[in-house]
Amino acid sequence: MKIHEYQGKEILRSFGVPVPRGIPAFTVQEAVEAAQKLGGPVWVVKAQIHAGGRGKGGGVKVAKSVDDVKRLAGEILGMQLKTHQTGPQGQKVRRLYIEDGADIQKEYYVSVVTDRATQKVAFIASSEGGMDIEEVAHATPEKIIKVFVDPLTGLTDAQAREIAGGIGLPANSTAQATDVLKKLYRCYMDTDASLVEINPLNRDGKGNIIALDAKFNFDSNALFRHPEIVALRDLDEEDPAEIEASKFDLAYISLDGNIGCLVNGAGLAMATMDTIKLFGAEPANFLDVGGGATPEKVTEAFKIMLKNPKVKAILVNIFGGIMKCDTIATGVITACRAVNLNVPLVVRMKGTNEELGKKMLAESGLPIISADTMAEAAQKVVAAVKKV
Ligand code: ADP
Ligand code: MG
Repeated sequence: MKIHEYQGKEILRSFGVPVPRGIPAFTVQEAVEAAQKLGGPVWVVKAQIHAGGRGKGGGVKVAKSVDDVKRLAGEILGMQLKTHQTGPQGQKVRRLYIEDGADIQKEYYVSVVTDRATQKVAFIASSEGGMDIEEVAHATPEKIIKVFVDPLTGLTDAQAREIAGGIGLPANSTAQATDVLKKLYRCYMDTDASLVEINPLNRDGKGNIIALDAKFNFDSNALFRHPEIVALRDLDEEDPAEIEASKFDLAYISLDGNIGCLVNGAGLAMATMDTIKLFGAEPANFLDVGGGATPEKVTEAFKIMLKNPKVKAILVNIFGGIMKCDTIATGVITACRAVNLNVPLVVRMKGTNEELGKKMLAESGLPIISADTMAEAAQKVVAAVKKV
């Protein structure tokens, strides 16, 4: 789960990480009041969307007067902000953050992530803050340092100094940077975050360290421990299909292709997508209906897939283990009758009660294309979309 920058900064502040003073605003009037309250003399008007690259896209602007804040808030609020992370359609700005303008001397990059390879928490840091870290990694990989943290000791003083020195922070900022990095680690661990990214971490003219941006991702499997974080969820920023799917406990991710996939088991769902690609087409979604899919769940899954105008055919690939093939057949038949199925449907099922399931589908009178192997199913569904 992601949150907005202003919410992230609130969390950072509560862990003692320095951030500028700021006030969120949902209207131009609120932005003006926020600016008056902060007092200036320099403000930054920042679009709040769940995507980075806002600065380059025109969503972060410096204001030198309350009138400036008013004008910029009017321009940014409601705009369709396009960044390299929003896709070409952009994201509508519904919230602003009005913040004290900082004295920027040098921008650094610091993030905390879970590194799967070493099974440790990793600090990734660079002297090249403020810009796309992917670009820095590509062009000047030597300017990125990584420090892996032992879970038993946490981030040690020595490691924090290694990071501060490694990104070239001057000596008079080392003590504060060490303190900030250790607080960042605490924050990452205590909130069950999967990513905390500060880009830029600013060093001002007096040598003070302050976080000017804050990006958080949280491990959704740990959210049950954090109702205060769940409360920060902004559904406007999420894919409506994915929100709908989560209500029915369906693991669904929207993708760009045109073949809807309904599969049980995450591994089989990924293999199914690979097989579709192998035969030259693209999946429209990842969808794992889980082991206990009821006919109601399957019907909802069909509805969600068919709401996507890009879907030109559907592939159902089921392995009947605990879940019996006849149960799935009932689900598919019920769903096809409940929704107005207007695209070709290929069904492949294997396992427990396979014969019964296939017989039910054949006798249903529905125009279902059946397939025996995964390759055959993928070829048939790819052929179906190529024909359309
Ligand atoms: P994004 O990463 O989405 O572009 P940032 O919050 O990092 O958004 O802002 C982009 C740039 O704007 C920063 O790199 C920094 O140079 C500048 N900036 C952001 N916040 C402030 C602030 N409070 N004071 C001064 N400059 C800021
Ligand atoms: Mg940033």
